[in-house]
Amino acid sequence: MITSVVDLRPVENPQQALIRLDIIPRDQHCISRKNISDGALKVMSRLRSGGFQAYLVGGAVRDLLLGGRPKDFDIATDATPEAVTALFRNSRIIGRRFRIVHVRFGREIIEVTTFRGHHDTKLNESQQDEKGGNHSRQSASGLLLRDNVYGTLEEDAARRDLSVNALYYDSGKFEVFDHLHGLKDLENRTICIIGIPEQRYTEDPVRMLRVVRFAAKLDFSIDQQTAEAIPRCAHLLAEIPAARLFDEFLKLFLAGSAAKTLDNLLEYDLLRYLFPGTSQCIQQDDKALTLVQAAMGNTDERLAEGKHVTPAFILAALLWPIVSKQFEVLESSGEAPMVAMHSAAHSAITEAVKHISIPRRFSQPMREIWEFQLRLQRRSGRKAVELIEHRRFRAAYDFLLLREQAGEDTGELGSWWTEIQELPPEQRLEKAASMEDNHKRPKRIRKRRPNPAP
Ligand code: ATP
Ligand code: MG
Repeated sequence: MITSVVDLRPVENPQQALIRLDIIPRDQHCISRKNISDGALKVMSRLRSGGFQAYLVGGAVRDLLLGGRPKDFDIATDATPEAVTALFRNSRIIGRRFRIVHVRFGREIIEVTTFRGHHDTKLNESQQDEKGGNHSRQSASGLLLRDNVYGTLEEDAARRDLSVNALYYDSGKFEVFDHLHGLKDLENRTICIIGIPEQRYTEDPVRMLRVVRFAAKLDFSIDQQTAEAIPRCAHLLAEIPAARLFDEFLKLFLAGSAAKTLDNLLEYDLLRYLFPGTSQCIQQDDKALTLVQAAMGNTDERLAEGKHVTPAFILAALLWPIVSKQFEVLESSGEAPMVAMHSAAHSAITEAVKHISIPRRFSQPMREIWEFQLRLQRRSGRKAVELIEHRRFRAAYDFLLLREQAGEDTGELGSWWTEIQELPPEQRLEKAASMEDNHKRPKRIRKRRPNPAP
């Protein structure tokens, strides 16, 4: 597949030693312009007309070469963000840690990034300003706080995360540029970090999550050195802001390969940096693992069928092992069930958000799904039938089935709610009425709180 080796880069830096520009001409790769969005083609063509370089890069090139459909189109250019915005009225600069330009075409957003360069730590900020108008910043531990040093195409390739994400497509000449054996890794179905793994994970620990995510999504194996450095660097994930971990959580579990991603996170012991409480429950209790696995499997199935999935449901499942354990403790100490559920939910969320942000628009439905598990226990009377109309019923019912699927004993509640939903509305009340007698469950025996000592 690789045909022409046109350049050998200097070997000043061990990372650059790997740089060897291979150009794959039009007739030797499968990328066709008709699979690229009009917006992306327009952006590249206008940048070229403005005298700049512009390439399709990242996931789009990778997925097109694998014969898949890219979910979005990213473009790399030598134009600065300001130069890009000057060319497109429908664009704006976003980000601080990593400044990029969003060019909007209706509902589609094309992300345009300026080639990233190597960090010259010897340069002071004003020298860096002279160099490119922007600069980088690293924390004492080596974490990249800002990454806005601009560079060449070759430098940009070396600063990307994985070799399979560092392939460039020139839509003017129809050529694919491969600097870092990305094509070889695509052919061998291998995820390989660019450069020295430990150094690249130190700069940005989220790359470890990206490694396991892409290995799951593409069903690739992980290169030995890329994998071996993970246990040594995993602790650095504790430095990542909770908001960024939440963004990454969405990509990990809402992209269609949640089950495989979970397996990889567990294999590399990375789940603990996202959900430490869950990770602990999973180690202690097989049922917790089964429940979380079932939730991920269901999510993947729903996505494959084109159904809607909400992060609230996945979060509810991930935190349920913690909530249900705490609920049992509180209930057996004499708390009323709703009160116990409320405070179990509160403490699970308070603990979780120390590590990963959970926006209120997700934490609220998540609480409701949990509290609904108690309401679903009531099967008699009009009130029970009315639950079906509640906006949270569907998610709560699915959650109940999930708990049963994971081996929780709910007294066959799930099949009762399945049957009643299948009945015409006028017969539902009758079925619920027939539960009237059964409903006379033994009164919950409240443990008396000991009287305070006289
Ligand atoms: P997809 O969009 O299908 O999830 P993608 O590879 O396009 O996959 P993005 O998150 O959209 O992933 O990032 C676009 C590109 O930017 C990547 O392909 C990679 O080259 C680069 N990139 C993203 N995140 C990092 C990172 N943390 N470190 C280095 N390069 C990165
Ligand atoms: Mg992308």
